[in-house]
Amino acid sequence: MGEAPRIGILAVQGNFREHAAVLRRLGAEPVEVRKPEQLEQLDGLVIPGGESTAIMRLVRLYGLEDAIRGFARPVLGTCAGMILLDREHLGLLDVEVARNAYGRQVASFEADLELAGEEWPLRGVFIRAPRVVETGPEVEVLAELDGEPVLLRQGRLLVASFHPELTDDTRVHERFLELVEEERHVRA
Ligand code: GLN
Repeated sequence: MGEAPRIGILAVQGNFREHAAVLRRLGAEPVEVRKPEQLEQLDGLVIPGGESTAIMRLVRLYGLEDAIRGFARPVLGTCAGMILLDREHLGLLDVEVARNAYGRQVASFEADLELAGEEWPLRGVFIRAPRVVETGPEVEVLAELDGEPVLLRQGRLLVASFHPELTDDTRVHERFLELVEEERHVRA
């Protein structure tokens, strides 16, 4: 790895500080994003979990909608961040998502997830998580919970319905930074 990758984190609402801490720990430089021009000169972008309706409203208010749509580098979306990227919102990710769809009793829970290509399970923290109900042909499933996708990739987009920023296991962020490094090589 050359210079530390600069990773923007959409910082209008939700878990942006937790993502910044993980990225810093992995040697990246986190940059809080609240204005469209802050998306320039970034190597990647994280859209954190939180409340998707609030995040979407603020994204529109701050004029960030088109800027995020036009951002051509890797994006990591977690929980509400995945909702923002879906067909119904920014329309970058070819998936259909049902919000808060894991039922009331089990609105929040943890589960061990089997991760494609890895021996050790990944601990998933689910908080009023969205459920992926349909995926397009370009979407690759990297982890499932009870046969339903919870970690997915579509080209330069990586999305999780859980919160990898809330555990000490950094493998989702590492995979994201690998995508970032690959893209930087292509550009160099
Ligand atoms: N339930 C939230 C929403 O619909 C997502 C929850 C989360 O990001 N932890 O926006």
